[in-house]
Amino acid sequence: MSHAHRGQVRALYNRVTWRLYRGSNVRCNCCGTRFRRFRTYIGVGGHRALMCPRCGSLGRHRVDWLYLTERSDALLGPVSILHIAPEVCLESPLRTLPNVDYLSADYDSTLAMERLDLRNAHYADQTFDGVICNHVLQHIDDDRRAMTELRRILKPGGWALVQSAIDPSLERTVERPEPALAEDDSGRYEEVFMRLYGRDYRSRLAQAGFEVTVSEFAKEMAPALAGELGLDTEETIFFCRRPGSEDGEIASGADPGQPLSEQAISGHDQPK
Ligand SMILES: [Zn+2]
Repeated sequence: MSHAHRGQVRALYNRVTWRLYRGSNVRCNCCGTRFRRFRTYIGVGGHRALMCPRCGSLGRHRVDWLYLTERSDALLGPVSILHIAPEVCLESPLRTLPNVDYLSADYDSTLAMERLDLRNAHYADQTFDGVICNHVLQHIDDDRRAMTELRRILKPGGWALVQSAIDPSLERTVERPEPALAEDDSGRYEEVFMRLYGRDYRSRLAQAGFEVTVSEFAKEMAPALAGELGLDTEETIFFCRRPGSEDGEIASGADPGQPLSEQAISGHDQPK
């Protein structure tokens, strides 16, 4: 079953069953609904996550949405957004915002508005104010090319939320790891990764010409609130910005594993 079909099956299942979870103990900040509890979702490698019974958000999505809406200036003012491999739980609230000009695109998903090969994006330079590109780069063979394309299609000063599966125990990214098993409502399936990012993920983004803000704000939130929202406190935010007036050079010749100087990467956790 394809990724798109799994998403459709899950959305249908949620539409039929979410009312069974009605209650007040927990709250999803993506769809604004309260529940007795979240559902349990078994992800890659048997990792358990808390899924919103209604919109299907996982703890990491609720961290992402909290960052975009409350911890950054990403959604202030008129903003044109490209949402790549769109998650329904982020697409729905984005499309309700009157200041957001929304477009979704994906390599093969029928759930997106357009098709897109991120290695060769068909958008003009400096098209978007913001791009959301979550858990995509790990599946693309030439991820450096994709990162450069992300930067190219952003306006100067534009932002990109670029989340990926990262193993913090790895100093350097591992190319072509073994396929991992995942499971959802539609059964077990094999998730094929082109690579598993390590702690050098941030420097890879910086080498594509981004200023990267790394935030672990969920870890620092009051445990009661993080619990109520079912946040994945291990979710580290990678919020990239294309430099504004003085456009930075792309360090294309740099050694991929070589950490950049602290000056080349913006400071750790700078909530706006
Ligand atoms: Zn929800």
